[in-house]
Amino acid sequence: MSTPTYNLNGRDIIVVGGGGYIGAHVCKMIAENGGTPIVFDNFSAGHEHAVKWGPFVDVDLRDRADTIAAFRNHDHVESVIHLASSIEVGEGERDPAGFYDNNVMGAINLLMAMRETQTHNLIFSSTCATYGETQNMPLLESEIQNPFSVYGKTKLAIEHLIQSYHKAYGLNYVTFRYFNASGADASGDIGEEHDPETHLIPNALKAAAGLGSKMKLFGTDYDTPDGTCVRDYIHVNDIALAHIEAIRAMDAGLTNAELNLGTGEGYSVLQIIKAIEEVTGLPVPYDAGPRREGDLTKLYANAAKAESVIGFTPQHSSLENIIQTAWNFHKTKWGV
Ligand code: UDP
Repeated sequence: MSTPTYNLNGRDIIVVGGGGYIGAHVCKMIAENGGTPIVFDNFSAGHEHAVKWGPFVDVDLRDRADTIAAFRNHDHVESVIHLASSIEVGEGERDPAGFYDNNVMGAINLLMAMRETQTHNLIFSSTCATYGETQNMPLLESEIQNPFSVYGKTKLAIEHLIQSYHKAYGLNYVTFRYFNASGADASGDIGEEHDPETHLIPNALKAAAGLGSKMKLFGTDYDTPDGTCVRDYIHVNDIALAHIEAIRAMDAGLTNAELNLGTGEGYSVLQIIKAIEEVTGLPVPYDAGPRREGDLTKLYANAAKAESVIGFTPQHSSLENIIQTAWNFHKTKWGV
């Protein structure tokens, strides 16, 4: 974890989805910067054991009355970080209504509750998957958004809703378009633990550790130098850091921004596998198979706007640090 960056001065901040992978790291960083994260979660994906830095409120955003009541009970809070959502791309293709219900309806209820309680500042986690298939790399925030997956479509719908709330009611917001969140806190006590795990780095580490079967590599016929998909991997503590920088910028008068959160570097699936073999000293057994539905060929950020608007630059996102911290966390969790 980095040194504190901004004194939050005992301030309470609502973190919706604070029991999740990114949420737990954001909460820890809020606490390290002198604030108190109030976690709103229903543990549909998050974990009770990851809530350790402030109070917990059991709320499902799909329940409008409950969501409004939870906000009324915390109507002194000024800033909300919204990270709760369904994220598994394949699940979205199989169950679009469930995705829209959880992600979009949840966001509608959240915004209504914020308006009712005059809670003015929102930081929202969107995704690079809102951009869609394009050759224009690195991606600028001004790129056309034409998402390919249900997941990306739900996040884009929420981005639009937030923009409309800004225009209609003066909501202040920062929308972050995350690239690939990865790595774990150096303490090893929090990290990525989705169930089922669908992400590349934990799945490749699992295969390297000899747990379960070989990793499945989804698609070797993409239009990239080695045929596998290219992504921009950013350390979860850099994502957390950017949230603190966003709060600082909003305190200084920032009213609205859409910002990429990436490093600007793209790595292919095969490059990640090779880096994992180097860091762990273990081979990653894999089977190359067909493409996974919903995957885009290449996604990496132009990261300049986050630097100029909120002063954010990644500090933890070397590939080696990402893989080493993820490996430390998983080794402890798996007992290997
Ligand atoms: N991937 C893979 N095998 C896995 C998980 C992921 O080959 O078990 C590939 C996936 O097709 C994509 C890249 O790794 O090209 C990153 O996928 P991930 O799910 O980690 O993140 P996404 O980019 O989908 O958010």
